[in-house]
Amino acid sequence: MTLEFDAAALANRATSALRAYDPGHDLPALRLRFGEMLSELGSNENPLGPSKSALRAANRAIEEAWRYPDPLGASLKRKLSDELGVPFAGITLGNGSHELLMLMAQCFADEAHPVVHSQYGFAVFPIAAAAAGAPAVAVPALPADHPEAPYGHDLAAMAAAVTPATRLVYLANPNNPTGTWFTDAALEDFLERIPPQTLVVVDEAYHEYVDAEGLSTALHLLGRFPNLAVTRTFSKAYALAGLRIGYMLSHPSVAAVCERLRESFNVNGVALAAAEAALGDHEHRAHVRATNRRDRTWLAGELMARGLRVLPSQTNFLLVDLGDDATAFEAHLFERGVIVRPMVGYGLRHTLRISVGSRTELERLLENLP
Ligand SMILES: *Cc1c(COP(=O)(O)O)cnc(C)c1O
Repeated sequence: MTLEFDAAALANRATSALRAYDPGHDLPALRLRFGEMLSELGSNENPLGPSKSALRAANRAIEEAWRYPDPLGASLKRKLSDELGVPFAGITLGNGSHELLMLMAQCFADEAHPVVHSQYGFAVFPIAAAAAGAPAVAVPALPADHPEAPYGHDLAAMAAAVTPATRLVYLANPNNPTGTWFTDAALEDFLERIPPQTLVVVDEAYHEYVDAEGLSTALHLLGRFPNLAVTRTFSKAYALAGLRIGYMLSHPSVAAVCERLRESFNVNGVALAAAEAALGDHEHRAHVRATNRRDRTWLAGELMARGLRVLPSQTNFLLVDLGDDATAFEAHLFERGVIVRPMVGYGLRHTLRISVGSRTELERLLENLP
């Protein structure tokens, strides 16, 4: 192999428009450098960890790792169907919800059928469109001084951006990285304005954390709007990010289309078993929810008491708006073993996203603020 060989020129059109994921800091190296003193507040992981019954189920399942997993994930889907009151045939499992977001664009969007998403919406949305070779329309977000949802989705503008050719709209509720949300009623109004041939994906990765008035879930709208699909994940509140498993709830015919392209064994057996057990552990889920709510409120108060602007959040992270380039602020924390996430890639270089980690991690953050 000669050094001059460069496959970049050989990549197909869709792939040429993409760049490799930027993993940010080298976390394994940082764990070695800082050990117990490292505060990992950059990835919105759940500091309480998974349910004990999920861990036991995962340990049992690994004994079966020599077998292929159930390609249908039928046992988990039955559990989801029972827990959520949705039809089995409308459930699609993914290797993380990321895979499902990508799958929707691959199955439905193309050069002639654009994708609409919000400025400052979840980063995967435009990537999914590009990977499918579809134009992505980024609708300007709500203004920075919006009282309820600064930098949030402007649903009226998004509905106006939808044309008969639009095949897919991505919404995140609540949204990452802003933490902002819109109400169930606002979503219903939005869906009423969207033509039936435009699919609307509502990403509810942080659903288990929400408790704001008027906000619950898009699930109860599935029956009325067959063009609606809802994605969720076991990565956040269920603390199974490392096992990579998420699910989508949709009209059965949308799930049937996705089945054509879904890799048969996309979800591994350990993840399937752990997710099923995690779903059944209502006590752990309630504990996670209550702890996050308490610590999020506490952290927001502490940061605001130090003069920082903190955006409203219904998630397990806070977006802090420094009003000025955040690079030096982030570097200061980084040198002290406090990892937060810069938002330069989103065009929000004056903000930092901070996960609601453990109390110890958050206290270290506060002690080391510039
Ligand atoms: C974390 C996150 C996801 C979840 O990704 P997984 O692939 O399920 O780990 C999806 N959407 C949003 C908005 C997120 O923040």
